[in-house]
Amino acid sequence: MANIVLKNALLADGLGTFIPDGIVVISGERIEALGSAEQFAGRDFAGYEVIDVGGRLTMPGFLVGHHHLYSALATGLAPAGPTENFVQILENLWWRLDRVLDEESVYYSALVGVIDAVRHGATAIFDHHASMNFVRGSLDVIAGVFSLAGVRGLLCFETSDRSGTDKIEQHIRENIDFYERHKDSPNIRGAFGLHANFTLSDDTLRAVAESKPAQMPIHIHCGEDAHDLNFCRQLGYSGPVERLARFGLLDGNSILAHCIHLDGADYDIIRQVKPIVAANFESNANNRVGRMNRRKIGRYILGTDGITADMILTLRSAYFLNAADGITFEELADSFFAYRREVQERFFPDTASLDVGKYADIVVLDYVPATQLTPENLVGHLIFGVKSARAFITIGNGEILFQDGEVKFCDEEEVRQKAKDVGRKLWERFYG
Ligand SMILES: [Zn+2]
Repeated sequence: MANIVLKNALLADGLGTFIPDGIVVISGERIEALGSAEQFAGRDFAGYEVIDVGGRLTMPGFLVGHHHLYSALATGLAPAGPTENFVQILENLWWRLDRVLDEESVYYSALVGVIDAVRHGATAIFDHHASMNFVRGSLDVIAGVFSLAGVRGLLCFETSDRSGTDKIEQHIRENIDFYERHKDSPNIRGAFGLHANFTLSDDTLRAVAESKPAQMPIHIHCGEDAHDLNFCRQLGYSGPVERLARFGLLDGNSILAHCIHLDGADYDIIRQVKPIVAANFESNANNRVGRMNRRKIGRYILGTDGITADMILTLRSAYFLNAADGITFEELADSFFAYRREVQERFFPDTASLDVGKYADIVVLDYVPATQLTPENLVGHLIFGVKSARAFITIGNGEILFQDGEVKFCDEEEVRQKAKDVGRKLWERFYG
């Protein structure tokens, strides 16, 4: 375990910590001390690796609040049929892809995706996984990648009737076994993955409710398209959130991705129960499914839905896609810093801020501001200054995962070569 000192850092966590000429002392997995250069004057850092970060903006590592690492080898893959509407996008691209993923492609997909994450300073990911013909053990394969990299992961398998109701038992077991085995881990946790209401029968939701440990949170796509809302209404429910609540599956730790097409009753339940809503504005624009009503939802974290692990780019898109609807920097700061910390710490305590005693999950962005940066204009700097700058250094759990263009936990060149071969075979199966 390394002992590291970052000096000459512009420390800003969007919460209480703001130190222009800052020093962070990392000892083992945690932040041992931090303060201004003046406070540390004369201190001898013998035994520490001292890194001068040249005034770069230094923050808590980012959270990808809803991701699909299994999509990493799909970049450039043309759909196998029309994509005029949301269901066709699923049928001719994503569901076709997740049927042909095998152990090797799940591994390389996760590895390429996690490399992308650390290159952009993400140190925690809420992943939603699907590989319908490689179910049992799939979450372990992904967890292996997270452990190798040193990134925190909340993992789950997408339970769905779409690959046949005979597989449901496997989906349920994969989720629960993984959750039980990682209950006490500070780095890897399990959630109960559900695809979306419209591919889950009442029988399946009943089986999930009967098997799932009470404290185990669900992670589900909710009201992503009007199709999901209509499906629930046809079965006699008010909407997708109300249906989950009726089965006893909803609580304050449930992660609901999208939340665009909801009934009035769904919004009422969200206000009462306060589940975690993960907004995915770029993905929703790409799939042409509409936009989440931020005022009705209240607080939300940002996800990417598999499009990227670059959270600065995602923050920027969130701003532009909602600018005409009056989104403010204050709202984004709440989402990106305060609410994100609150949510992340439910799964990974002692993370998501720059404070003494917290785990050292830190990103040094490759950004030295040319103008004054203050706690008040931090989001403005992220959107208009940093834009989508890659990380200069990413630290996870006290280890350097990425530094000055180099990934530290694997030979990236070799991984990319291998991933290309694996991807080519995957694409052949996709069209086969
Ligand atoms: Zn998704």
